Amino acid sequence: MAVPKRKTTPSKRGMRRSHDALKVEAYQECPNCGELKRPHHMCGACGHYNGREVLAVDL
Ligand SMILES: [Zn+2]
Repeated sequence: MAVPKRKTTPSKRGMRRSHDALKVEAYQECPNCGELKRPHHMCGACGHYNGREVLAVDL
């Protein structure tokens, strides 16, 4: 089995992990009801997408 020749330094380990953080999810306001929704997704509050009702939501 291949074994690393040297121990990874705290600096190199930190450089590798600098890209590991999770990003904040993108959110947009729904043009129909103003509720926050994810871009390119149907609005979860009113069921609208691209200016029309895709899914009927009972209020
Ligand atoms: Zn909406």
